[in-house]
Amino acid sequence: MSSSDEEGGEEYLFKIVIIGDSAVGKSNLLSRYARNEFNPHSKATIGVEFQTQSMDIDGKEVKAQIWDTAGQERFRAVTSAYYRGAVGALVVYDITRRSTFDSVSRWLDELKTHSDTTVAMMLVGNKCDLESIRDVTVEEGKSLAESEGLFFMETSALDATNVKTAFELVIKEIYNNVS
Ligand code: GDP
Ligand code: MG
Repeated sequence: MSSSDEEGGEEYLFKIVIIGDSAVGKSNLLSRYARNEFNPHSKATIGVEFQTQSMDIDGKEVKAQIWDTAGQERFRAVTSAYYRGAVGALVVYDITRRSTFDSVSRWLDELKTHSDTTVAMMLVGNKCDLESIRDVTVEEGKSLAESEGLFFMETSALDATNVKTAFELVIKEIYNNVS
């Protein structure tokens, strides 16, 4: 994170990481937010490190540098460099696969191990468009988020439900933490 004040203009840059099991929709949440795109056949992300997205808070330009894994979560090999300097995190599971919800506490542990500062965290239950094959209830998501002190939202990268809202809530919370 950085903040500078030059010629009266303030600038904020926040690093946000997206974590969670493979195929929960992390890359599509980011592409939906940053480019309004969805890829139904996305393979493990190759090469892309982060995307930068700006929003205005209190008349100030706030930039979020949002990091996506390159598929290394499949091998439980997300490195400390990935987490370094992060001040926000989206911890994502897939509401149609309980195993991905059961992994959330492991992801939170890993995040806490690697962070040395306050991190604004949101629990994200993605793929809420797939109501007919839901495997984790909204109440279970809410209750886990409450017990861990996280924000909570269900999203769909496919139909765009709550995607912008989720990212912007995390960005606003980070802003509140630092200003
Ligand atoms: P990642 O491995 O966590 O980055 O997951 P991806 O973004 O690559 O998505 C994995 C698969 O889930 C892909 O086939 C996506 O098209 C699909 N997917 C991602 N988000 C959604 C969603 O919100 N709804 C539905 N129905 N499918 C999704
Ligand atoms: Mg991915």
